[in-house]
Amino acid sequence: MSVMVNVNGHLVDEAHAVVSVFDHGFLFGEGIYETLRTYNGKPFLLGRHMRRLRASAAMIALAIPLSDEEIAGRFQSTMRAAGLGPGSGDAYLRILVTRGIGELSYNPSACGTPSVVVIAKPHIDPPAEVYAHGVDVVLVGVVRNHPGSVSPLIKSNNLLNNALGMQEAFARGAFEGVMRNYRGELAECTTSNLFVVKDGAALTPPLDAGLLAGITREFMFEVGEDAGVPVREQVLRDEDLLGADEAFLTSTTREIVPITRVDGHVISAGTPGPVTRTLLDAFRAKARHTSSGH
Ligand code: PMP
Repeated sequence: MSVMVNVNGHLVDEAHAVVSVFDHGFLFGEGIYETLRTYNGKPFLLGRHMRRLRASAAMIALAIPLSDEEIAGRFQSTMRAAGLGPGSGDAYLRILVTRGIGELSYNPSACGTPSVVVIAKPHIDPPAEVYAHGVDVVLVGVVRNHPGSVSPLIKSNNLLNNALGMQEAFARGAFEGVMRNYRGELAECTTSNLFVVKDGAALTPPLDAGLLAGITREFMFEVGEDAGVPVREQVLRDEDLLGADEAFLTSTTREIVPITRVDGHVISAGTPGPVTRTLLDAFRAKARHTSSGH
């Protein structure tokens, strides 16, 4: 198993995976992406990821030059070249689409064809202790982008807002940073969505709090229904997280990660709580079932 990359239709290894410095993705951060993983060798919730990719592209007036079927084909061939697929371990998949190569101008017509890059590499689960004991998060000072500025709904390659938030979390020794929006409400983490559990219900900030519409977040509403746990959107503030019965974060590559400490304060008695564990078990069962051809 290795890392393989498809750059504009050409399969290459890691060392040869290059794009031009005149690509507006590099020059201006003009591009969008998706991260997927496989279960049982199949890209999980592929249709939803393709929908979000096209929604992100539309928000920056970028035309994706491939159909969903062509993109799925690139995922398959890149995985195959990397020695990944059914029976040989799950894959991490990333697709990036950028404005393409052009003159140094913000005019989209300066560029010809968008660049499309697909990366396939082995998926690596977070360490087992993350799920067994939960993780520390901190509330970071970096404010999530105002939705009227660069909307967090755009899954953009321009990740400076997130990177600055995470730098602060790293400096404070935390697993993740929780970002507030411009109104001071909780929005999401720097690379994942946030849930708090109160009185048996899992609550997550609404999309208009300014956050990425996580595919795992969306799936949680269905997982909750299966598991008998109400999952709802609700405006959340610092005190809701600090006073939560339990809390967790969600993302494609990490599923559901219990949070047991916030800014150094223990929550959930310092151990993953029963609602979080129920949802994680239900999530894993549903993800494997969904990917098994049923
Ligand atoms: N929010 C942000 C800012 C993210 O980068 C991610 C992961 N890409 C998520 C949420 C989680 O989204 P998903 O469940 O689709 O992986």
